[in-house]
Amino acid sequence: MDGVEPITNELTLNNGVRMPALGFGVFQSPPEETAAAVETALRTGYRHIDTAAAYHNEREVGEGIRRAGVPPEEIFVETKVWVSDYGYDETLHAFDKATGKLGVERLDLLILHQPAPDRFERTIAAYRALETLLGDGRVRAIGVSNFMPHHLAELLAATEVVPAVNQIELHPYFTQPEVRAADAEHGILDQAWSPIGGITFYPGWGEDRRSVMEDPTLQEIARAHGRTAAQVMLRWHLQQGRSAIPKSTNPGRIAENFDIFGFELSAEELARIDGLDRGVRNGPDPDVARPERFAMPIPEA
Ligand code: NAP
Repeated sequence: MDGVEPITNELTLNNGVRMPALGFGVFQSPPEETAAAVETALRTGYRHIDTAAAYHNEREVGEGIRRAGVPPEEIFVETKVWVSDYGYDETLHAFDKATGKLGVERLDLLILHQPAPDRFERTIAAYRALETLLGDGRVRAIGVSNFMPHHLAELLAATEVVPAVNQIELHPYFTQPEVRAADAEHGILDQAWSPIGGITFYPGWGEDRRSVMEDPTLQEIARAHGRTAAQVMLRWHLQQGRSAIPKSTNPGRIAENFDIFGFELSAEELARIDGLDRGVRNGPDPDVARPERFAMPIPEA
């Protein structure tokens, strides 16, 4: 700590449910490494895990939770319904699959992984199932991911419950101001995926990517605080009121990414990081239909 008042690691969702702002991601965490990574994260102090049916590691996330020995009620568990389970009955059943694999009775946050632009009526039906699960107390909050403002507008026009969260690609090279404005207008919390820019440097995802981790401005700000670029990016998210869910399977980096509560970025530094936005998406375009995604079934629990 360098004498700084720690910011809180707690956010309140639009339905009053409290959620740790800093979560732990497990996309591309191999199943055989996931339980150990989740156990390490929980022992480090993380109390929020973000997984997805499509990551095929919900079972190992559950195992890591049990191994860590942290009281389950202290852990905020978030997962996502994959598009092949969209539709009302299918999504109700997706809840059974997810809870069966995770070994929990109730989920803290269940979100739709992405809009299915070519089957939007099934996306809406899936969200109606989330509303039912919420009404029955089987999930504490519901939300969406990769929803652009027009997807949100269509969803809000057809459903009752405003999503608590919109999980979107969000790092200094892609800050999605229009989506954040739409989220803010409706009281939806932004949750950053690839919060430290993983999608700009994942190995094997194309050599033409420019790694945000190596950005000179971030490096300079990090040096000024005796911190790393990853810590600076996470602090930037939390100081601007967002949730962030960095992924790592490396114990040193898991600890590094949690050690962000003892320093503070100035308003000028936050603005300099905002200024790095290139407006270029690295992940898939949520408006492009990818019917092949419906061909990936999610196994039973
Ligand atoms: P990320 O968390 O921004 O970055 C992860 C990458 O950075 C990994 O390659 C990791 O490797 C490396 N890393 C972690 N900490 C580091 C550090 N301190 N210094 C240097 N490298 C570091 O990217 P992400 O995994 O794409 O996003 C995070 C989470 O968001 C995912 O795990 C998933 O839960 C969620 N997500 C959601 C969507 C969606 O469509 N909703 C899409 C993508 C991701 P090591 O493991 O080797 O440390």
